[in-house]
Amino acid sequence: MSIALLTRLPAAEAARWRGLLEEALGEAIPAKPDPATVDIALVANPPAGSFEALPNLKFIQSLWAGVDSLLADASRPRNVPLARLIDPAMADTMAEAVAAYVLDLHRQGPLYRQQQAKRVWKQHLQPRPAERRIGILGMGAMGQRSAEVLRALGFTVSGWSRTGATVEGVTMQAGDDGLEALLTDTDILVNLLPLTKETRGLLDRLLFGQLPRGASVINFARGGHLVAADLLAALDDGHLDHAVLDVFETEPLPADDPLWRHAKVTLLPHVAASTDPRTAAAFVAANVRAWRAGEPVKGLVAAERGY
Ligand code: NAP
Repeated sequence: MSIALLTRLPAAEAARWRGLLEEALGEAIPAKPDPATVDIALVANPPAGSFEALPNLKFIQSLWAGVDSLLADASRPRNVPLARLIDPAMADTMAEAVAAYVLDLHRQGPLYRQQQAKRVWKQHLQPRPAERRIGILGMGAMGQRSAEVLRALGFTVSGWSRTGATVEGVTMQAGDDGLEALLTDTDILVNLLPLTKETRGLLDRLLFGQLPRGASVINFARGGHLVAADLLAALDDGHLDHAVLDVFETEPLPADDPLWRHAKVTLLPHVAASTDPRTAAAFVAANVRAWRAGEPVKGLVAAERGY
């Protein structure tokens, strides 16, 4: 049996992945395998129809943490287990990005940059980190590591997850009531949820209305979580102070999108925590080995749950 790498990544990037995966696995990944021999597919944005050509597929390993587009792929065989990427180095990178932009908002970066543009010398009261309440939606691999780093910086951190499972030093919430409780107590909201049918469009007018006036929003998860028109309205009417957006429903973000030039939006081109093939390859190889040995694999996705 053999492994196939299914991806629409640019050729040079795909070649780099192939080399690092082959090294970590200790075996070759044929560029054009006999489809009948392929039992394991390693996938990152697979070409349309590639699953249909593999009649003996037994295991799919995503090279990305988010699997929303794979779950939505109608050609993905429903009876073949799918695992997502869990790379602690990626969670570190996400936590670094969250800390960077939480600190920027906390230190009133957008306001001082606006003042600089107008040559305004004006000092504003600076709260302490403990006085700044950070609410994190999604307390999985990304959310938990981000919470840990924010706590180390002295921020007051709350989290919302499906189960509300305990996370040390974090006030945890679950369910609709829990979400409302978190939002009313949040100055900076950080979205790190997977995109599922329950979470699509969650960042909307209703949610923004539950945040205190002057709150800010960071969306580092998926563009589909955000109702952009509702965000623009909440920024324009002054209810929200600022938004940091890394992910968009359409990527690259079209040049005529109003988010590009909004004074209260910091825009990033989906760079919060890119997969690093150097560290990801080790996780993928370990999962492939576990699968072949009949041992439990990490990051198995529950399709009905959506993550
Ligand atoms: P994960 O480990 O699967 O964690 C998901 C978290 O969301 C869990 O805490 C889960 O609750 C919670 N959750 C799921 N559905 C929920 C619901 N309906 N209500 C409340 N909580 C819910 O995922 P992860 O590795 O942290 O990644 C999260 C997302 O980040 C990915 O799906 C991806 O979209 C995004 N991401 C973005 C970038 C970037 O560069 N911008 C990079 C990496 C990842 P339980 O704990 O109770 O299960």
